[in-house]
Amino acid sequence: MPRPSAHPDDPHYVHRTGWLRAAVLGANDGVVSVSSLIIGVAAATPEAGPVLVAGVAGLVAGAMSMAAGEFISVSSQADSEAADIRREQQALVDMPEHELQELAAIYEGRGLTPQTALTVARELSAKDPLGAHVRDELGLAEHLAARPLQAAMASGATFSAAAAIPLVAAWLAPAGAILPVVVAVSIITLAVLGALGAKAGGAPLLRATLRVVGWGIFAMAVTAAIGSLFGVSV
Ligand SMILES: [Zn+2]
Repeated sequence: MPRPSAHPDDPHYVHRTGWLRAAVLGANDGVVSVSSLIIGVAAATPEAGPVLVAGVAGLVAGAMSMAAGEFISVSSQADSEAADIRREQQALVDMPEHELQELAAIYEGRGLTPQTALTVARELSAKDPLGAHVRDELGLAEHLAARPLQAAMASGATFSAAAAIPLVAAWLAPAGAILPVVVAVSIITLAVLGALGAKAGGAPLLRATLRVVGWGIFAMAVTAAIGSLFGVSV
């Protein structure tokens, strides 16, 4: 039975770090990369067709690469966690007394008296020796365990959902107004994303929001400049 939280109305942020980080990164990348792509092409040609094709291609390619990248990086994290746990399991078989002393030393380092530390290590080892080492020696907790598929899905889904915003804006924009419409919609979306990410992660709101919007504007400006260069030369 999970232990009741001392402050249920104010949960710790650490419980949502894993998928949150992937989700916010995915969404931010979605808006910045697809809006920049759309703006770059719109700066080169006023026709809506090529702009929308580029936007759709950017969304699909970006979502696939985000999901693949997240899956690969979190999988390798999962692999090293599993290898560490296997090593602990073997050590508990090969040298249980040494492992017990090691655990007691960890608790002593956290401020327990040698006697109490040894008692705690003994009692926890009697119940679940591997669990005690995984948690207190390796610092791995169930809610932080690497979940590659979850992270990949979260990243790919949020990338797509966020990237769809500038794409739909480009699609609905009046002829010849794709650029200003997509820039305005993207800046508003990035501001909302920045604020959401800051709120969910407990970070200072204004600084986090300005950081996200600033980088977004910079990326859009660079691609618009390059696009207009192409526009002149085409
Ligand atoms: Zn150990």
